Amino acid sequence: TEERLRQAQKMDAIGQLTGGVAHDFNNLLQVIIGNLDLALEARPAVETGAEEMRLALSAAERAADLTRKLLAFSRKQPLQPDTLDMNRVIRDMGSLLNRLLPPSISVETVLSGGLWLTSADRSQLENVLVNLAVNARDAMPEGGKLTIETGNGHLSDDYAAIHDAQAGQYVMIAVTDTGSGMPASVLSRAFDPFFTTKPDGQGTGLGLSMAYGFVKQSGGHIKIYSEVGHGTTVKIYLPRVHDAAPAAVDPLAPENLEPR
Ligand code: ADP
Repeated sequence: TEERLRQAQKMDAIGQLTGGVAHDFNNLLQVIIGNLDLALEARPAVETGAEEMRLALSAAERAADLTRKLLAFSRKQPLQPDTLDMNRVIRDMGSLLNRLLPPSISVETVLSGGLWLTSADRSQLENVLVNLAVNARDAMPEGGKLTIETGNGHLSDDYAAIHDAQAGQYVMIAVTDTGSGMPASVLSRAFDPFFTTKPDGQGTGLGLSMAYGFVKQSGGHIKIYSEVGHGTTVKIYLPRVHDAAPAAVDPLAPENLEPR
């Protein structure tokens, strides 16, 4: 619990610090990206400077991605929770994940039938899952297997006891890789903002801290199980919701059409 308090305080302090800066910085980046886009459209691709501009554009886009992560992490972006079918979220992400992962990594999804509904901000949840998939990819440079699993679940008793988690019902999603795993020294700092072991420029150290912030803010829990040389599982628990918000009825869907 002391560890959790320390983590929370650190997150708050850094969050306040970065949130304001990230917001202004992002506005400036949008100006840079917009102007580079315009300049690239205006000149033929062969003309000198186009390649340099393209490089600048991709760097600016990476910087924009970083500031988005900072904003998400500093909670300056309000969440917009939706009632979600987690299986569907994962199915919808299929092609995105396939593009993200090299052919040497196989993907298996184990989607539980009769899955409860959960409530979370869909686009931020997708960001978190992409971050987990990128981490899994980076942990398996020689290839391997990524497994995404869903299930209905209570937090296991020991987990609930250790983390003072409220009893309750959750939708669980687990992302497992067969990669390098994390030594204790990495595992203990994995959620720390800006902690990264990745070589220069390849990691921001924000993926897992963002995931942590998102999950906590969503009323859920996140836990990493990792074994060096074997792999890593990140489990996320998001609260179950019982009543679907009135479903948006698509009047043109075949099942909703009045027989004529
Ligand atoms: P980043 O990916 O930018 O380094 P993260 O916060 O997502 O930032 O991760 C922090 C660190 O935790 C990583 O640099 C890596 O050392 C470790 N890590 C995260 N996910 C995994 C994983 N699936 N397997 C092994 N190590 C991991």
